[in-house]
Amino acid sequence: MKFSLAIHGGAGTRRREAMTAKDEAGYRAGLQRALLSGYGVLKEGGSALEAVTRAVMALEDDRHFNAGRGAVYTAAGTHEMDAAVMEGRSRQAGAVAAIMGPRNPVLAARAVMERSENVLLVGEGAMAFCREQELVFEDAEYFGTPERLEALHAELERRRRKGADTRDDAARHGTVGAVARDGAGHLAAATSTGGMTGKRPGRVGDCPVFGAGTWADENCAVSATGHGEIFIRYAAAHEIAARMRLGKQSFAAATEAVVLELGTRGGSGGLIGVDATGAVALPFNCAGMYRGRIDADGIAWTGIYRESLEAHELSAA
Ligand code: ASP
Repeated sequence: MKFSLAIHGGAGTRRREAMTAKDEAGYRAGLQRALLSGYGVLKEGGSALEAVTRAVMALEDDRHFNAGRGAVYTAAGTHEMDAAVMEGRSRQAGAVAAIMGPRNPVLAARAVMERSENVLLVGEGAMAFCREQELVFEDAEYFGTPERLEALHAELERRRRKGADTRDDAARHGTVGAVARDGAGHLAAATSTGGMTGKRPGRVGDCPVFGAGTWADENCAVSATGHGEIFIRYAAAHEIAARMRLGKQSFAAATEAVVLELGTRGGSGGLIGVDATGAVALPFNCAGMYRGRIDADGIAWTGIYRESLEAHELSAA
């Protein structure tokens, strides 16, 4: 049975000089746990949709990544999370934006897809829907971390001084996502994020905008991470699908070209994709992207910076 799964924990990694061996081990362990969750589903013959949901839940539960627990703060010191999920064959899709409460925003997105007649719910209405669905809720303390609060204070201070934006990529980005092809050949994508540190309350990024940060059809599934406004304006994920379907570009060429082009338009970031054959791509145009992949052979691969991926025994996760 041929299946594959790729994940990301955000483009724009901590600067290499600031990355301790302990931190790096923490990030890699988080990626491996997410790969293992999705792999377990696919190995048992489960769907790509379920695999991407499980992988994203594992990343949301890990405070290293900017989604669910560990989400960044808005300028008002609150959390507003966006999440999306899409299934390629059926084109079913669900997303939430600007919510705070459900422990796993990806489950809120999945509930919109499966238990409502809508595609995207936002704010208070989305929260009321999540309560009806009896999703597990957490309070603000659960989501916040001292590191994220420190990043918010640094960002607000920089704005007060009208200082140049000298932050490293890590302060700008963060999002988690997964794409998969299951044994039946179906594709799915899921993305979840706290957005960008110090964002204006009410700001929604590319993650829940289908065709921008998240997309799945019968040819490819894509989950993006990066400067959301630019990814929306260039319909990043759908651009890949369109190049493949209409321009007959290969999956590898389309993913590479779109990420490069976004970089030239101020769209720092990256994405992960899988095509109908199960081939995966993990391109990015900044210093690094937390990322990983696994297929039916059960070898988990993870990477952070430009170097090739490292293989891990799954039992070590
Ligand atoms: N794309 C996300 C957003 O704009 C942030 C990120 O991936 O870094 O909300």
